[in-house]
Amino acid sequence: MKKLKILFTGIYLLLFITLLFMNQCSINENSAYRRIRDHADRIKVINTHEHQRWTEEFPARQFRFYHLLYPSYLEADIICAGAKGFDIARMDSFTLDDLWNIYGEALNYTRNTSYYSQFVKGMQKLYDFNDLYFTRENIAELSAKIEKNYQNYKQWFDESFHKARYELMFLDQYWNPYNTEPDTEYYALVFHINPLIAQSSHKPEKGTDLKDFYKKASDEGYEINNLDNYLSFCDHLFKKNIENRAVCLKNSQAYSRTLFYEEVPYEEARILYDKPSSKLTPAEAKKIEDFMFHWIIQKSVDYDLPVQIHTGYLAGNGNVLDNGHPIKLNNLFLRYPDAKFVLFHGGFPWTGEYAALGKMFRNVYLDLVWLSQISREEAVHSLDVMFDCVPYNKFFWGGDCHLIEESVGSMEYGKDVVSEVLANRIKRGLLTEEVALNIVDRIFRENAIEVFQLEKRLGRKFQ
Ligand SMILES: [Zn+2]
Repeated sequence: MKKLKILFTGIYLLLFITLLFMNQCSINENSAYRRIRDHADRIKVINTHEHQRWTEEFPARQFRFYHLLYPSYLEADIICAGAKGFDIARMDSFTLDDLWNIYGEALNYTRNTSYYSQFVKGMQKLYDFNDLYFTRENIAELSAKIEKNYQNYKQWFDESFHKARYELMFLDQYWNPYNTEPDTEYYALVFHINPLIAQSSHKPEKGTDLKDFYKKASDEGYEINNLDNYLSFCDHLFKKNIENRAVCLKNSQAYSRTLFYEEVPYEEARILYDKPSSKLTPAEAKKIEDFMFHWIIQKSVDYDLPVQIHTGYLAGNGNVLDNGHPIKLNNLFLRYPDAKFVLFHGGFPWTGEYAALGKMFRNVYLDLVWLSQISREEAVHSLDVMFDCVPYNKFFWGGDCHLIEESVGSMEYGKDVVSEVLANRIKRGLLTEEVALNIVDRIFRENAIEVFQLEKRLGRKFQ
């Protein structure tokens, strides 16, 4: 009997020590996560990709909850869940209740997605919104606050920008690619080069009105009759962007064509350019465009500007996924070792391939922009793999959003993911906390300052 008592006491003691040890471990893990996450919040973030718009661009539009959903990524999940597309023109004529009746059910079906939680995160950070989900009732309260803030959006943007501890956003104005004067209080100029490529196979027919690219050329005194004229105007755009302190180029052509750009000799491109664009076969049109991107990359080397490229998954509700397959760019990395390529979005769903490219090429950098919004768990998993493969001076982070709320939600999500992956690596003995903190600094700030040469380009100090 006495032996049995001793045995039980021993088992209890062992159990107690084990529980104590486990508890201690989880406290340590949590506190490593907490310390990294808190550290991330103290960083003045250099956000390497945004599409932020000013509300004055849409003078007729009201701004309520659903008006913020409209340009958000979450809209695509709501449509994916079965809702009809957002009719922004008619939105103002509906009450919030009407809109909940139209979109509420589909919105509820997206409560599991990363787009949804990231959108909620922005509201939690900026509006003291404490719920996990949107409901008919809490949207009414939230929407009233949104309406009030958007009465003076510049002030609200400024307040939110600083609350999020942003120091700088790289602004890709795909909707207005010739504007070289963004508000430098917040933004650095990105030279959006899609039109330079796409318009090479879209010459205006003789006798028709000039539009877009060709109109812009004419307005700036460039008459375009052949490929040399075309290239002169492109070079002029380069110079203009450089003068206005552009920090990089951006190619998002995967939305409209394959990322495979073959090398095409100048002579072949010159002859093809002389043909009326309407007479070009798709293969010929592609050749001129391919030639143009190669030409642009060579210019990027001359001007020492990194080239950001959209890879992987495409926003919206219908496109050719294969167009963005990152491995299609492989020939460019080999052909132009002196160019700097920055691949976007984790190449999702080809995250392994994306990591391999970042590992194999010293001139390929990885921007985690948007990855955690597409899939938080894929971001956690693939970033862990990327940390196995790629040195940490090659990563950046960007927001990729149109309004400040979503950008802030995206950043919160990005910081959560990076901190979680790093804390887990510390737990597994793969990393010290000191290096983990350094990695966070690098991803959210220092790599961008270094690789995009921000001090030199923008003529200011980043301390
Ligand atoms: Zn983007």
